[in-house]
Amino acid sequence: MVMFIVRWYRTRLMRAATTDELTGLANRKWFSASFNALSEEDLAKAHLALIDVDKFKHVNDTYGHAAGDDALAAVADEVRKMVGTDGLASRWGGDEFIALLCVGESEAHKRAQEMIDAVAVREIGEDIHVTVSMGMARMYAGETLEEVLERADDALYVTKEGGRGFLTVYQEGVTPHMSETVAVESPVASPRVVANRNDVVASETPMRRTKLMDSKSARMMLDRIVRSLLTAVYKMVPFVAGGGILIALAFLIDAASVNVNALDAEARASFGAITPIASGLHDVGAAAFNFMLPIFSAFFARELAGEEAFMAGFAGGFLSSQGSAGFAGAIASACVAAIVVNLMRGLFRDTSERLQRVAPVLIYPVFSLLIMYLLMTFVIGPVASAFDALLTSMLIALEVHGRVLLGAVCGAMMATDMGGPINKAAYHFGTAAIASGSPDVMAAVMVGGMVPPCGIALCMLLYGNKFSTEERDQGLATFVMGLSFITEGALPFVLTDPLRVIASCMVGSAVAGGLSEYFGCTLMAPHGGVFVFPVVGKPAAYTGALALGTLACALVLGLLKKTKQ
Ligand code: GH3
Ligand code: MG
Repeated sequence: MVMFIVRWYRTRLMRAATTDELTGLANRKWFSASFNALSEEDLAKAHLALIDVDKFKHVNDTYGHAAGDDALAAVADEVRKMVGTDGLASRWGGDEFIALLCVGESEAHKRAQEMIDAVAVREIGEDIHVTVSMGMARMYAGETLEEVLERADDALYVTKEGGRGFLTVYQEGVTPHMSETVAVESPVASPRVVANRNDVVASETPMRRTKLMDSKSARMMLDRIVRSLLTAVYKMVPFVAGGGILIALAFLIDAASVNVNALDAEARASFGAITPIASGLHDVGAAAFNFMLPIFSAFFARELAGEEAFMAGFAGGFLSSQGSAGFAGAIASACVAAIVVNLMRGLFRDTSERLQRVAPVLIYPVFSLLIMYLLMTFVIGPVASAFDALLTSMLIALEVHGRVLLGAVCGAMMATDMGGPINKAAYHFGTAAIASGSPDVMAAVMVGGMVPPCGIALCMLLYGNKFSTEERDQGLATFVMGLSFITEGALPFVLTDPLRVIASCMVGSAVAGGLSEYFGCTLMAPHGGVFVFPVVGKPAAYTGALALGTLACALVLGLLKKTKQ
């Protein structure tokens, strides 16, 4: 029994190490090892083909990553069919595949052409089509994989330069060589000879290009994570904007309907939900707003690991939004969901067909949810709470060093993680200070939390060329959220450029918080933004603190951010 388990496990490990998860094709490591194990006889008449999906970034951008993944699986299927039992096939990395055809020259060309045609007519999802470019080179006795690969790559480059979607067979003395080291940004004059993708071409002009396969794979991986993050952020934005604006509207209605100055502390705490209309708007706004982190985490997990990771990502995001883990927790929960689903996929690959069908609808959800619960409850949650306690004691210790410093630190903390543990620690400290008779801290906290969205919105006005069109379209909504003390309005910008945005927001919020304390402003309400300015002690000075903090944030961000291409 033990021997059986050990053997089964070892087979699983071997397979996991040599199989490409997405396409089920062998991976690069397996290809190299298998190539080296082939006999001279096998290699005598072999042809090596490099296949790259055309304009694949465009496919991802237009139809989404999931469709891109389906396209890769479809191409992998055609590569597998082309090779059959006469050679080796694997995913080389990203959208590139490699195949060794141990067949004669005319047969190799025929199969290659048929494969290119089969991909072109194959429908992926609803009306999505892709084409592939191919470069092929024949093997010579005693050659290494690197040598023949270099020629196939040269041929592939000719195809790409010649318009894509056809086969180029390497011809000695005709196909141009590319240097290993010298990079040329945009290659000189296209060498293409034939435009028709059914033609086999060779070309005449020498060219150069860098071939750094490994760094390319790493870049692709990073590229994929960034794209997944962006997709998740864009899915989240309507929840932030829709929910945030309705909450702001609720504040506006209450501000117009009741005299905030006449309210006691308890009634002020429910400002924004006092009159029936405001209460309704606040409820629906908060409902949408609270879905922000679950939606982000779910889509991030889905982009990283496919449909099966969506549910666990959503649940993890919800747990993060309920506790104090905030968006850091939501990123962590998406990664956990993606990792768990990938592990389980590997675990069930060799099981019966029935089990493989049942696993994604029953076993994946149950186990991924359980693991998510355990991690969030016993690791991420407690760490966030302990962190909160530590920060609170730090703030208490800071009180003796003067109010201005305390205000600056509280302000900066509000802008550190926009709704995460540090932001929440400062906010709780501010609300507790109202109860203990020091309403100045709450004033510093609120202005610190208003600066990030306001500052980013102002920066977009001043330095429009440093933001994408989509980002600029969110400018007004972001500003309204800032004015309403909804710090999370800054999140979409933080997630796409964390260091620069957080650094500048912290500077702006520290300026605003410090100034608020310096001017001796006070606030007896725990939320409400500009709509509770009538109850602020020294409202004019407070407005000045907000304006200066916003300006500081915008200027620093403008300095740090790079211009968009
Ligand atoms: P070209 O015709 O010149 O090849 O253009 P291209 O857009 O295909 O450019 P390139 O081959 O450099 O792009 C590869 C892209 O493949 C970049 C990356 O976003 C995407 N990619 C890499 N791995 C995966 C993956 O596993 N899934 C998906 N959906 N996309 C991937
Ligand atoms: Mg490509």
